[in-house]
Amino acid sequence: MPSAGTEATALESGPHETRILRRHARDLTALLALPAMWHGREPTYIMGSLLEVLLSLLRLDSAYVRFDDPEGGPAIEDWRPQSPAPPAEFVHAVVAPLPVPGGPAVSVAAPAAAGHDSIRVARLAPGFVHERGVVLASSRRTDFPTALEQVRLQVAVDQATLSLHSAHLLARERVARAAAEAAHRQLAFLAEASTQLAGSLDYERTLQRVADLAVPTLADACVVDIVVADEALERVAVAHIDAAKAALLHELRRRYPAHVYEPHPIAQALRSGRPQLIPEVSDAMRVRIAGDDAAHLQLLRSVGATSMISVPLVAHQRTLGAMTCLRTESGRRYGPAELALAEELARRAALAVDNTRLYRAAQAGLAREQALRTAAEKLAAEQEAILRQIADGVVIADGAGRITFVNEAARRHFGFETLGVTIEEYAATHRPLHRDGQPWSPEELPLACAVRGETVIAADMRVRRADGQEIAALASASPLVGEDGAPFGAVLTIYDVSAQAALERQKDEFFANVSHDLRTPLAAIVASIGVVLANEPAAMPAPLHHMLVNSEQAAERMAGLVDNLLELTRVQAGRVQLVCAPGDLRELARRAVDAIAPLAQTRGQRVELDLPAEPLPALVDAPRLERVLLNLLSNAHKYGRAGGTIRLSLARRSEDVVVAVADDGPGIAVADQERIFERYYRSETEATRRNQGSGLGLPIARALVELHGGRLWLESTPGAGATFWIALPRGQRAGGPQDGRL
Ligand code: ADP
Repeated sequence: MPSAGTEATALESGPHETRILRRHARDLTALLALPAMWHGREPTYIMGSLLEVLLSLLRLDSAYVRFDDPEGGPAIEDWRPQSPAPPAEFVHAVVAPLPVPGGPAVSVAAPAAAGHDSIRVARLAPGFVHERGVVLASSRRTDFPTALEQVRLQVAVDQATLSLHSAHLLARERVARAAAEAAHRQLAFLAEASTQLAGSLDYERTLQRVADLAVPTLADACVVDIVVADEALERVAVAHIDAAKAALLHELRRRYPAHVYEPHPIAQALRSGRPQLIPEVSDAMRVRIAGDDAAHLQLLRSVGATSMISVPLVAHQRTLGAMTCLRTESGRRYGPAELALAEELARRAALAVDNTRLYRAAQAGLAREQALRTAAEKLAAEQEAILRQIADGVVIADGAGRITFVNEAARRHFGFETLGVTIEEYAATHRPLHRDGQPWSPEELPLACAVRGETVIAADMRVRRADGQEIAALASASPLVGEDGAPFGAVLTIYDVSAQAALERQKDEFFANVSHDLRTPLAAIVASIGVVLANEPAAMPAPLHHMLVNSEQAAERMAGLVDNLLELTRVQAGRVQLVCAPGDLRELARRAVDAIAPLAQTRGQRVELDLPAEPLPALVDAPRLERVLLNLLSNAHKYGRAGGTIRLSLARRSEDVVVAVADDGPGIAVADQERIFERYYRSETEATRRNQGSGLGLPIARALVELHGGRLWLESTPGAGATFWIALPRGQRAGGPQDGRL
């Protein structure tokens, strides 16, 4: 045991001191090598080693060290010798106020330990920024610590502090690096997840990818359940680190269907819309889920989940299902970090699933649209084919009057050649004519009228075919109206009536010839009978007299019929030339009424004449117009009521003179009202059967009125009489169509 003062005096004296100094220098050199020795060691190791070094270097009785963790963790405390507890003197010294960090060791008086006279404790506080602590060295030597010992103590503690600091830095760096690596791994994982999920446009495949992604990074097993009808859960994806066990998870859901209202963490996640973290899955929980079904419990135990996370898959506020991660094999527990990662994965999965849904909807929409388009195209093609093959000409114009469609017949027979031309351009190049040879004005053409919204039925036309031949045609046109009621063009149908017209012409010519040929012998018969009757001998037997009278009447009727036929064919052929002269129509009316009055009397009918006070001058072919009035009056007499009233009235109405012939008879059925103006048409009525007639009177009347530039029409309420109206222009003949359309 060295005596007190040995080292203190060593600094002043000879070879012994030199030895001491040398040893001291050697010790210091050894101490300076400590950091290299402690490099990479844990703080606890460094502390223990420091204590050992101090004991041997300073020949201490005991030593104590305590370092507080700068990060706030538990302090490192150690002492030597390692008796069960630190010696009492240390406990005492530790509680004393801490020495100044970095200052020299301070000796403190310590209570005498049992069996010792005195004990000296050197206290030292390491002087670094972070590390705070205290080092105590105790010796029973009275000169402890000597100046050299203080230096060595100081150096040893400094080296230890230095190493400790490095160790702390290293540990901090390691933690930081681990955290950075974990974050990097998570980011890489999520990035991979996003890529993988974006790559699939199939709902089930996307969810299977989610499950596959979660294993093993996030889970030993992962299942995805979606909510289907009746709030039931359907397991659509399963992944397990041990592929053989994946079947268990499928089987679990298949055998024990779950609903969102059940006491199951997955159901809970779906109900609440919030993720569920169950760090430790207890057997009690399995029992709760299985209820009293032992087989179910057995299956749950075989799955062997130890920790679980269930996260709802929510996209656009809609909960699609839940992703559930399980720890089974690894026994590791889930914590907030895994929960955050699982939530992030679930968020991406939900978005991907939603995208597939949108994609599917879009695909379905596209397919529907495509199908509709195909159907519409097929229909259009069929319609076009029909229109093309139709024997009549079909021409379609758009709303601007431009020809957009021409079928084969229209092209071939009617000279509609090019698409894209306007109706006016067509009229200018093809010059279609009315039946009487007058040119159509372009705006009057049936297709032009229909583009303006009017409907034209059976207009007579003469058109020139592509081969130059002129043909007669009937054209009808009507506006094309869309579903929304907006007009978008017009369609014209036109058919060749040349053959019919030729036939009619032949027939008319035949009639004209026959009529003409019949007229002379008939006139001779009527005249002869008249002569016989005029010179009738008194002894003529009565039956013979009656026969002669009947023959005269029949011959006169026949002459009338022949006259009618002749007149009609001439009007139709445009061979009637009106001889118009100004006259007072009232005179004409009076003559007609006078002529019919005796006949009316035979049926007890009253004939009324309603005339204006002032004259009604008009430019007319008087005999022909009188014939018209007589025809109407005679019809009123024949088909009107016996004992009824026949009324002829004349009135001036703006530019026209209006004539009405009215009766109070049975009237004319609605279906017959236009048809009675057709040739030979007669209503099927009792009155018609009673009266002989040819069905030629009205067509002739109408044709003659139209030759005057006027109109003849009928108003009749069946059962309440009939009124035939004539409107005649007062001035010059209007020169309207004289096509004799009968
Ligand atoms: P007809 O008198 O020779 O039969 P019309 O052309 O003059 O020929 O008349 C055609 C048909 O119209 C007649 O057969 C008759 O059925 C019907 N008709 C004409 N005028 C009247 C009327 N005033 N009341 C009822 N029916 C009429």
